[in-house]
Amino acid sequence: MSATALPTLAASQFINGRSAEGTSGQFTDVINPATGEVIVRLQLASTDDVDRAVAAAKAAFVQWSATTPGERSAVLAKFARLLEERAEEFAQLESAQAGKPIRLTREFDVPGTIDNVDFFSGAARNLEGKASGEYSADHTSSIRREAIGVIGSISPWNYPLQMAAWKVLPAIAAGNTIVLKPAEITPLTTTLFAQVAAEAGLPDGVFNVVVGKGSTVGSYLLRHPDVAMLSFTGSTSIGRTVLEAAATTAKRVHLELGGKAPFVVFDDADLEAAIHGAVAGSLINAGQDCTAATRAIVHRSVYEQFVQGVAELYSKVKLGDTADPGTDMGPLVSLAHREKVAEMVERARGYARVFGGGIPEGEQFANGSYYRPTLVADATPDSEIFREEVFGPVLAVTVFDTDDEAIALANDTPYGLAASAWTTNVYRANRATREIRSGCVWVNDHIPIISEMPHGGMKQSGFGKDMSSYSLDEYTVVKHVMFDLTGEQHKGWHRTIFSID
Ligand code: NAD
Repeated sequence: MSATALPTLAASQFINGRSAEGTSGQFTDVINPATGEVIVRLQLASTDDVDRAVAAAKAAFVQWSATTPGERSAVLAKFARLLEERAEEFAQLESAQAGKPIRLTREFDVPGTIDNVDFFSGAARNLEGKASGEYSADHTSSIRREAIGVIGSISPWNYPLQMAAWKVLPAIAAGNTIVLKPAEITPLTTTLFAQVAAEAGLPDGVFNVVVGKGSTVGSYLLRHPDVAMLSFTGSTSIGRTVLEAAATTAKRVHLELGGKAPFVVFDDADLEAAIHGAVAGSLINAGQDCTAATRAIVHRSVYEQFVQGVAELYSKVKLGDTADPGTDMGPLVSLAHREKVAEMVERARGYARVFGGGIPEGEQFANGSYYRPTLVADATPDSEIFREEVFGPVLAVTVFDTDDEAIALANDTPYGLAASAWTTNVYRANRATREIRSGCVWVNDHIPIISEMPHGGMKQSGFGKDMSSYSLDEYTVVKHVMFDLTGEQHKGWHRTIFSID
């Protein structure tokens, strides 16, 4: 895919309903990680661009927050239909900029996003508060659920389109306006997403995109005085920066951070299902998934069978041209990221049994950032590969003997985003779902997500929920309204404060 094939992408920003070039004088090449080719060269945003975007969002908030849920719902419904018409364009672009196999973008990223838009079109009309009533004999109380204001949002590169959707949709469905900064290496589908939203009738300024570096534009957005709330998806270390920035003007914060998901295989598990589940759960998006299975915790009686089974399937996974629907796994997002993953695996070779790994040989892989699936067996619970987020196609495996040990190992991590338990024993399954501290626990599966259910972490995986009606709570504030019922000028309770009639 060349720059000339994508003329609509020449403008990198989307501010106040219009595409625009950045004005920083700094440029970035958006690269296809499968081929090393430049898709397009973009001029990055300046802090002036952020000011313009925030000003547009602030102005738009007045009208947008006053629209009825039905009006917001109608725009989102139209948005979903336009996305459907352009689904293939989104799938191609997401595949090219992020190095995802086209099968994944066609069957997961794009339809998942459209379903999200449809979900929030419905959810916008179902915002509710507690019933009103007389909680004091002299007053009627009611609850108003209101939008917060301008949301400053920052998203990562691993699922550029879906992460943008998860941030934008609940925010605007609830009546907020937003300025979103996508990762500068994968901004293209986010800008296109905003363009299509505008075509669907979303008013100018409601959804703005600024493309720039995190350390400059991102940091400026986080501290902007006219931004009322920060919503961030990315690493735990930058999440801490977001919290610090929020403190300057006491902004509300929503954080979706890193993960290191345990995958617990009990001795009574359907082992064939667990092996296939481990391969799919660890290799989705080349392992660059915050909920990916990364720590397999396997009972001693089935341990070696599990290791051999996963290693064998890993060796059959087809790496290749991301445009080919037959390709299973694409490259990592960049050469720099591959280097980080490779270094962690090389260090693990010193202390564990490593199956696979390394850069695949062959002309077709020469310019991409491909890395082969890697199983690291006998990884001790305190080892780097078992504890740190690798964010690549790497599954570390360790052994356990008792159920208590398995649960303790699953919880022995600062993260708490997702986990799975593999067992045919209902009591074990129940215990695992209750005792594993993570935002999601799957039983006999790993990865599926749906628009109706919340996604979000515990512990250092962050707080707040994406998707589902719970995310609308994040982007709204409840207000207590109290009406005097007596009509009295001298109210009874005044006497507590002063006794003059
Ligand atoms: P990252 O934290 O490096 O970057 C995320 C975003 O923050 C990017 O847009 C980046 O430009 C911006 N950023 C970087 N430095 C900044 C700064 N100082 N101020 C403001 N913004 C800044 O993360 P990444 O490498 O893009 O993504 C991978 C990480 O995201 C992994 O840790 C992964 O687990 C996490 N993630 C979490 C979820 C979730 O739902 N919990 C989903 C996807 C990814």
